[in-house]
Amino acid sequence: MMIDAYGRKINYLRLSVTDRCNLRCRYCMPADGVPWLPHGGILSYEELFLVARTAVSLGIEKIRVTGGEPLVRKGILGFLSRIARIPGLRQLVLTTNGLLLEEMAESLRNAGVQRLNISIDSLVPENFRRITRGGEVSRVLSGIAAAEAAGFPIKLNMVVMRGVNDHEVVDFAALTLDKPYAVRFIEFMPSAAGPDWRSLGIPGREILERISTRFGFAGIDRGELAGPANDYRIPGAAGTIGVITPVTGHFCDVCNRIRVTASGMARGCLFSESETDLKPILRGNDPSELEKVILRIVGTKPGKHRLREEPSGSPTLDMSRVGG
Ligand code: SAM
Ligand code: SF4
Repeated sequence: MMIDAYGRKINYLRLSVTDRCNLRCRYCMPADGVPWLPHGGILSYEELFLVARTAVSLGIEKIRVTGGEPLVRKGILGFLSRIARIPGLRQLVLTTNGLLLEEMAESLRNAGVQRLNISIDSLVPENFRRITRGGEVSRVLSGIAAAEAAGFPIKLNMVVMRGVNDHEVVDFAALTLDKPYAVRFIEFMPSAAGPDWRSLGIPGREILERISTRFGFAGIDRGELAGPANDYRIPGAAGTIGVITPVTGHFCDVCNRIRVTASGMARGCLFSESETDLKPILRGNDPSELEKVILRIVGTKPGKHRLREEPSGSPTLDMSRVGG
């Protein structure tokens, strides 16, 4: 078991397997994409597996595979089924934009992926195209249907942006009326999107208020917005809604995760400046070093991020690289 300097149990690894993507979401990537890493700059599956296995041996119980778009990396299914069989791993989950799910959902289920988070920021084809710079929402919707048919519980993540898609919040919440979906609204975070992020962000509290005004659900304990995902149910609804408040919430106190990027950069906090390059260790002669480094990353994990104290626009983050 790994306990950090603030007493938090660290049992969750977010593992990015590629920086590449078949979309160019405005809030995540610049229009012309990010310069892709050369082949040797990306960890091989063997190296990623070693990271995962070592992390699990130290106390990681849940791995989320992310990207870029994880499903665009060749050989991903074989990799996932190897990860799923690591003794001691309790949960293997994946975050995807859903574009390839129609073809891949069943194989992902067979590979041992237990849950999917599907990112979808608009239900309106034109708006979806605008946000993703050309994506077809119909493909994501078919992907969601395929995932459902394959037996996955459905979790949808919407990044809410003022004046961009916030008018669709209520429609997303309405999806839960008939379907047992978990729809989660995520506060927009600083990213490669540029310095305007603060004006686009909508506090989780406001998102919940809008839904509550429309559906009249009572019992939202506004004091409880601090957790990473607080789930609520519209009365009589089949599914649940939740908000994730990385910006206005203080879920640093219960943060249980570490991250490794596709290029092998490990970090204790999404917003931390300091990263450790695992490549030299993975490609060196002493694999036992990997354990020490992971323990050091856990040991130096910051107590909380300083996002709200930063002057507007100063922190930037390549979400596609770090994996959100
Ligand atoms: N391509 C996959 C996808 O879109 O689900 C996985 C990688 S993506 C970087 C992971 C998550 O980060 C997505 O849910 C995405 O919406 C979220 N994300 C990216 N940029 C963000 C931002 N600026 N603020 C909040 N969430 C962001
Ligand atoms: Fe690609 Fe996901 Fe980033 Fe959109 S949010 S550009 S789908 S990595």
